[in-house]
Amino acid sequence: MKEAFRYLQEELDEMKEKNTFRNLIPLETKQSSRVNIHGKNVIQLSSNNYLGLTDHPKMKQAAIEAIEKFGAGTGSVRTIAGTLEMHNQLEEKLADFKHTEASLVFQSGFTTNQGVLSAILSDQDVVISDELNHASIIDGIRLTKAGRKIYKHADMDSLEAALKEAEGYRTKLIVTDGVFSMDGDIAPLPEIVALAEQYDAMVMVDDAHASGVLGKNGRGTVNHFGLDGRVHIQVGTLSKAIGVLGGYVASTNTLRDYLIHKGRPFLFSTSHPPAVTAACSAAIDVLLEEPELIEKLWDNRAFFKKGLEELGFNTGHSETPITPVVVGDEAKTHQLSDKLFEYGVFAQGIVFPTVPKGTGRVRTIVTAEHTKDELQEALDAFAKAGKELNII
Ligand code: PMP
Repeated sequence: MKEAFRYLQEELDEMKEKNTFRNLIPLETKQSSRVNIHGKNVIQLSSNNYLGLTDHPKMKQAAIEAIEKFGAGTGSVRTIAGTLEMHNQLEEKLADFKHTEASLVFQSGFTTNQGVLSAILSDQDVVISDELNHASIIDGIRLTKAGRKIYKHADMDSLEAALKEAEGYRTKLIVTDGVFSMDGDIAPLPEIVALAEQYDAMVMVDDAHASGVLGKNGRGTVNHFGLDGRVHIQVGTLSKAIGVLGGYVASTNTLRDYLIHKGRPFLFSTSHPPAVTAACSAAIDVLLEEPELIEKLWDNRAFFKKGLEELGFNTGHSETPITPVVVGDEAKTHQLSDKLFEYGVFAQGIVFPTVPKGTGRVRTIVTAEHTKDELQEALDAFAKAGKELNII
């Protein structure tokens, strides 16, 4: 049996030699601003739990009630026997929240991007994608027969050149992350939308890291820039700021109906359990009722970023609660992450191939849950580790 997997094991052994092999790190306590890992209590700076909603009492209560009333699972895909009233209600709520006509929930943000792109594009169409877009967008594009153009990251000259080359296709779809997950910068959406309108293209935004973070009550980048009604497709995740699991696309009734029939991950995978759906629905209420969570998130982000910069760290082009501490050298990036852990902070190092070679970074994400004392403690750990490694 083992012999059959030898070729895979060889690749893994090579990764171990290059120090790119990673073990999964189990949390021994619930997701929070502090977690226990390997028996040690550390400050969590690596989760996407932006607003601390993974542990929100209203959401947990909604999940418990949903299990009691509707059970642990749904037993079918949505299109056969697995649609509960609450699935449709969540979609109506998300559409209202995003100021769109309709929405459709997928099993994850990843499968939303895959499902949307693979369903709506054929060889008559062309997709124009930012070079730093998320893997799920890249994989979605790979599943289509559409023409492909990649533009330089957030570079509007490069986008315009791609749009000019794309003349003649039936549909031209520009796709971009709203907030880029490794750098924390925001896509220049007003410029992208202006070019799209000039060249008669559609725009799709993946707001995985902007929903619950940017815009009124966390409506995302489209709302943040006042572009409601001018972006054709908004994708979001229910797994980051929303704190649960899933993805959704917010757009028109036509797109919703089309994806119900042609969105393969939607069609062929069982629907979300009642607890997940009810917790997501309660999360939207929390966003509307507790805007102070988002204020706290941004206040924490300002405090932490300023602290890192005053210490002399390079935080790249971050504009959001994702703040990379750019180290460059890959081995040193891991050393910084390891030392931080020793000093009580969990912040993962991210290196090639997730980010370009030579741009290794420790990516930090503050949340609304962190106290100023915790953030100061984290800054002290960064100062100590950074000096020991001659980074600052
Ligand atoms: N898009 C982006 C930009 C992301 O960062 C992620 C999460 N890594 C996803 C999509 C996928 O979301 P999910 O975790 O819900 O599958």
